[in-house]
Amino acid sequence: MSGLVHLVGAGPGDPGLLTVAGRRALERADVVVHDRLGTEELLPLCRQDAELIDAGKAPGRAALNQDEINAVLVQHGRAGRRVVRLKGGDPFVFGRGGEEAQALAAAGVAYAVVPGITSAIAAPAYAGIPVTHRGVATSFTVVTGHEDPTKPSEQTDWAALARVPGTLVILMGMGRLAQICEALVAGGRPPDGPAAAVQWGTTPRQRSVVATLATLAARVGEAGLGSPAVVVVGPVAGLAPSIAWRDGPLLGRRVVVTRARAQASDLSERLRALGAAVVELPAIRIAPLPPSPDDMAVLAGIGQHLLIVLTSVNGVDALFARLAELGLDARAISGTAQVVAIGPATAERLAAHGIRADLVPEQFVAEGILESLAGRPLEGVRTLVARARGARPELVDGLRARGALVDEVELYESVPEPADPPAREAALGADYLTFTASSTVRAFMGLLGPEERAGLRDGPRVVAIGPITSATAREEGLEVHAEAAEHTIPGLVAALLEDAARR
Ligand code: SAH
Repeated sequence: MSGLVHLVGAGPGDPGLLTVAGRRALERADVVVHDRLGTEELLPLCRQDAELIDAGKAPGRAALNQDEINAVLVQHGRAGRRVVRLKGGDPFVFGRGGEEAQALAAAGVAYAVVPGITSAIAAPAYAGIPVTHRGVATSFTVVTGHEDPTKPSEQTDWAALARVPGTLVILMGMGRLAQICEALVAGGRPPDGPAAAVQWGTTPRQRSVVATLATLAARVGEAGLGSPAVVVVGPVAGLAPSIAWRDGPLLGRRVVVTRARAQASDLSERLRALGAAVVELPAIRIAPLPPSPDDMAVLAGIGQHLLIVLTSVNGVDALFARLAELGLDARAISGTAQVVAIGPATAERLAAHGIRADLVPEQFVAEGILESLAGRPLEGVRTLVARARGARPELVDGLRARGALVDEVELYESVPEPADPPAREAALGADYLTFTASSTVRAFMGLLGPEERAGLRDGPRVVAIGPITSATAREEGLEVHAEAAEHTIPGLVAALLEDAARR
């Protein structure tokens, strides 16, 4: 049996720019052969047991050459495995995807091509540069700058390209930027016409320079821009100031999101919408706990609990998953039970499972729950508290002190997630670290060595979702610069914004 090889374009770096088909192929793959550029952030989508093969250079090892890559694809395809060849941008734009397709065809291995969003269009777009624009440019030409423009033997005819009136997009051109600009001026392009360079386009590290054809190389040098970058030559480059859509009060600020990957997107999207460059460095992962027979017995009798307390979105999901294992759903909960959600997000998730929360405390912490129950008699009330392993004892102790008969079930735990080195490096140089739970603070600090921890003192500013998380951060040696007044994601964002506005 022969497998199937997908040649997948990963997009230019922003993980949101992977196609739906690309994502599906990645999630199913047995083997993923990836490059370095633009693909790192997507690797967590792969199955945990997928074999990852890095075709790029790694420390202490040379990159695989094209013949070796072709051979790897053919070999795994022939072995009947589902293979993804993941390439930055689009596989057929300076990606050598065509050669890989030919090698697979020649070997009789089935393959499919999943085009990707090329950096040639996306990097300019993220810098506010449309490659065509009505009345400004009616065509764009994408060309490699890899070849030496001073050698007559080269295939790229810069003089001819200079005469084409549209936009020129140059990939791999940073090494010879000065010569390329000179060749274009010599060919007739106006030296004072707009030109731009966009490095690490669409990623949190994106930086761009807009100048003229005559000054671009010097400005790029001053700004310290290097590869990988897309160079745009033509009047469209001058539109950048009027189309700078990645704008907002957090523009230019790099913010680290340490939440579990599955939950990061809400916070990340809000921050991005405000212009921030977001680095996702999930410090923890939510892992369901194997059900204990005692817990299952408690849940099988959930209809007897007259007070049910949920302290997180994960807790809600885990509870309903457990109930489903028992063949139960929301109908098993007594119609007279009072359901308490620690905050609005937890209440919203309960609603998604068909339960309207009876109570959401004013303060979204365990103490707030106790306070909100202050007026109610709890003596002898059968109470279910469903939550994470290692949660603070205050809630259960407080309920028991008031006479409640508390069954506590531990549904999941937060386990530390290893950090991938580029995200970790970006995090240490960030402007802000955000923490939404004590568990993420501890796990994040656990990722760091003693020197890195010390370096954090004059490093990023720290924003916490509430007092418990702040206290943990201080215990871990961090200074907390802002704390959310309302202990929710929007509250956290508001606190960060306020802090940023003061600086
Ligand atoms: N197939 C890729 C291009 C591979 S060639 C695509 O379609 O995007 C590698 C070159 O692409 C780099 O030298 C640089 O010029 C460009 N490039 C790739 N990713 C980039 C990014 N995120 N920002 C700017 N340029 C990028």
